[in-house]
Amino acid sequence: MSVAGIPVLHNHINNKATAAVSASGEAQLLAVTSPYTGETIAHVPLSTSKDVDAAVEAATKALAEWSRLTLKARAAYLLRLYTALQAQADELVALIVREHGKTYTEAQGDLSKGLETLEYAIGLPQLAQGHVQMVSGGVQCRDERVAVGVVAGIVPFNFPFMVPFWTIPLALGMGNTYVLKPSEKVPMTMTRVAEIAASVLPPGVLNIVHGDRTAAIALTEHSHVHAVAFVGTSAVAEQVHRRGVAAGKRVLALGGAKNHLVALPDCDVELTAQDVVNSFTGCAGQRCMAASVLLVVGEQPELLRRIVAKAQALVPASKGPGAMGPVIDAAALERIEAAIMHATDIDGATVLLDGRANDRFATCRREKGGFWIGPTVLCHKAASDQALQQEIFGPVLSVLHCDSFDAALAIENASAYGNAACVYTSSGAHAEYFAQRFGAAMVGINIGVPVPREPFSFGGVKRSKFGSSDITGDGAIEFFSVRRKITTKWAVSTEKSWMN
Ligand code: NAD
Repeated sequence: MSVAGIPVLHNHINNKATAAVSASGEAQLLAVTSPYTGETIAHVPLSTSKDVDAAVEAATKALAEWSRLTLKARAAYLLRLYTALQAQADELVALIVREHGKTYTEAQGDLSKGLETLEYAIGLPQLAQGHVQMVSGGVQCRDERVAVGVVAGIVPFNFPFMVPFWTIPLALGMGNTYVLKPSEKVPMTMTRVAEIAASVLPPGVLNIVHGDRTAAIALTEHSHVHAVAFVGTSAVAEQVHRRGVAAGKRVLALGGAKNHLVALPDCDVELTAQDVVNSFTGCAGQRCMAASVLLVVGEQPELLRRIVAKAQALVPASKGPGAMGPVIDAAALERIEAAIMHATDIDGATVLLDGRANDRFATCRREKGGFWIGPTVLCHKAASDQALQQEIFGPVLSVLHCDSFDAALAIENASAYGNAACVYTSSGAHAEYFAQRFGAAMVGINIGVPVPREPFSFGGVKRSKFGSSDITGDGAIEFFSVRRKITTKWAVSTEKSWMN
């Protein structure tokens, strides 16, 4: 189906493309825009609670059979899913570029990082083994991990493939069935994934319902959904967590971030400058692990000069050396420009590089349309400035000078968020001093995007995460399973034990 030649996306329920419905018939549609040009490239339906009911019913029906398969059998399905997705890698990368505005290299990273979680989940028969032990004469205890039930996943726009795949493989591997609500801003990649998965997985195991907060809330509150995995802004993560827990569900809700990088006087200037620029401009700054605040200990004019020069050299493009893509939509552009204006006009920050005035990006915006803004570097006087407190989620770096290690640590420790922090230094002792004292849960040493890769688990603290476990690795195995404890006694023991 299409409207004016532009495709209308469908939900995927029971392995079938299913049109969303509203009370009056066809569902309301939302335009999906290309960040590169601003053109409408698809229409996504805004599903209602009726659509959510249909998807949850399919997942509930599939649960009994899927959860009773052996872990090895489910891992074999995941291996087939891996092979099927790999076979369509080029198409998936192109979709990510088109709907999100990532460069090709970034989109390849989005796909390959998501597939890494799938690789990890294929190893679940080795990773999720239970324990067995004779606990007294003739009595054996063992535990095994069983499914929680129907899982709902609600995801943000910034990684169309990787973030959904943080949870889908491990949730399915542990025997749960799944209903995903992709971001309404990037619904095309997961629609294609659902089509591919339909050729591999049994019906009802992985279902997709498109929409906005209405569908997300209906999922979070649905009485047949047992666990909710959410990733998005902190305000929404907190709400989803509160709502889901009140409804008696397991909830893990990852929120936003404000990541601090600290450059010590003994850092390698070239390595640090390049890494800081990669960190705050990659994916146009739309990563929850992106550099946001650079705390410079002492005066380091050469470091700042190189950061500005490298950021200024980036070009608006989808591929090629130094390519940087646009931000997701007009609202994001407006928010980023307003944050820069607040920093300069209200908080008195100095502009070292102004992304609003970057000729190449401005020409692109004027000639191609789309949501382009160049990298911006601001130099602040106070840690209380709004740009150092609130998430901007764009290619903006806020620099602040500190006169000691502990002054830098105090600023990082006081952040409301706790996703990532990094120290640049050539001293092992200094690195360890910071690694042991940062408040964030994911720490980098000379690496500004310190994403823990499998088998290590991903997750922050404070307003970056509501809920206790991490979202990947062994944290997720725990979140997506229930430990069933089985105690066995076959013969009455003649020996005295706690059982007799
Ligand atoms: P968002 O909060 O606007 O939306 C996320 C999802 O929640 C979407 O699917 C959206 O439809 C849904 N939603 C919106 N309002 C809702 C409501 N009231 N109730 C329930 N669901 C609702 O986030 P976004 O702009 O798509 O993504 C960017 C944010 O995600 C940033 O803050 C970023 O830091 C964060 N993020 C965090 C991590 C992490 O690991 N901590 C990873 C990626 C992104």
